[in-house]
Amino acid sequence: MPRLEIDINKIKHNAKILKELFAAKGISVTAVIKGVTGSSEIANAILECGITTIAVSLVQNIKKMKAFGVKANFLLTRLPTHSEVPDVVKYADISLNSEISTIKLLSEHAVKQGKRHKVVLMLELGDLREGILPEDLDAVIEQIIPLKGIELYGLGVNFACFGGIRPSEKSMTELSQTVDRIQGKYDIKLQMVSGGNSANYEWFLQQDKFGNINNLRIGEAILLGRETLSRNKIPHLYIDAFTLICEVIESKLKPSLPYGEICQNALGETPAFTDVGNINRVILGIGEQDVDTKAITPRINAKVIGASSDHLILHSKTHLEPGSEIKFDINYSALLRLSTSPYVKKVFI
Ligand SMILES: *Cc1c(COP(=O)(O)O)cnc(C)c1O
Repeated sequence: MPRLEIDINKIKHNAKILKELFAAKGISVTAVIKGVTGSSEIANAILECGITTIAVSLVQNIKKMKAFGVKANFLLTRLPTHSEVPDVVKYADISLNSEISTIKLLSEHAVKQGKRHKVVLMLELGDLREGILPEDLDAVIEQIIPLKGIELYGLGVNFACFGGIRPSEKSMTELSQTVDRIQGKYDIKLQMVSGGNSANYEWFLQQDKFGNINNLRIGEAILLGRETLSRNKIPHLYIDAFTLICEVIESKLKPSLPYGEICQNALGETPAFTDVGNINRVILGIGEQDVDTKAITPRINAKVIGASSDHLILHSKTHLEPGSEIKFDINYSALLRLSTSPYVKKVFI
C-alpha cells in the first residue's frame, strides 16, 4: 500500500512560527486543515501552538474532529449548502457566507438549537470565487442584523484561490475601510476581519500597518511551508512534513518511445514522447486515483514520465529493484487526493 508519512512535529513547528510572525502584528491565524481532511492528530498538534481556531471545508470533518475529542473553535471555509445547514449550526462555531437565503436558514436552525451562529461575510474583491459584491454589502447586512440566530462576526476576503489574483495593498485597504464604514454606519463591532490565506504572506511582509485586518486563514503555508503566489518556501518553515512512499512493481530497461499506432491513453490524452533510446522504466503501485501524479517529485534521481489510474511510470537514472520503496515530495493538490484516499495509509512519525 502506498503510504503518506506525516511528520507532525514539522507541521507544529510551521504553525508556531507563522502564529508568532502574524501575532507580532496583531493578526491571528485560523489554521485551515482541509488539505488533510481535518486530521484530528494534526489539529491537536496545531492547537498546542496556541492557535485556537481550526478550519475545514466540510462539516463532516468538524463532526469527526469533535468525536475524536478535538477542542477548538471550528470554522467552516466553504459556504454551507442549504441541506447541511442544521449540521453547520450544530458543529461549526463560525461559517463563511455570502448568500442571505443561507444565512436566514442558519438563523432559523440556530434559534431551534438554542444557539447564535457566527457568520463571517465574504466580500468579493476580484478573485471571483465566493463573495458579496461591495455595492450589495449594506443591503445584506441590513437583513442580517435583525436575525435572532446570527451573530455578524466578521468580514472576510479571499484571494489566489480561483482567479489567481494577488491580494494587493489596495484591496486590503478597501477591506479595512469597508469595516470602518460598516461599523460606523450600523454601530456594530466586527470581531474577525479576515484578510485572506497563505497568498497574503508577501503582502504581510511588505506592510507595517494592517488597519482593521486581524486574521488570516492559513492552510498550505502551515502544511507545506510555502506561500501560494509563487510557491516560494517561507523562511524557517519545513516544506517536507509529508513524504509519499510507493513501491516498485516493475523495473526494466525499455524504449523511451511507445511503439505501434498512437491513439488515446487511459486518461483520454494523446501523449507525445521523445525518443532518448532505452531507459530504466520503473512502475510504482500508485496512480491518478490516489494522487495528482503531476504534483509529486521523487527524492531520487528520477522523473515522473506519466501515469494511468493505478500505475505511475518513472524514468530512473539507476536500476531499481521490484519491492524497493521510492520517496516523493508532494504539493498541495497531491496532498488533497492522498489524504482523501482510503487506499493510502497515513503514518504519523
Ligand atoms: C482553502 C481556504 C483557505 C486556506 O488557503 P491556503 O492557501 O491553504 O492558505 C482560506 N480561506 C478559504 C475560504 C479557503 O477556502
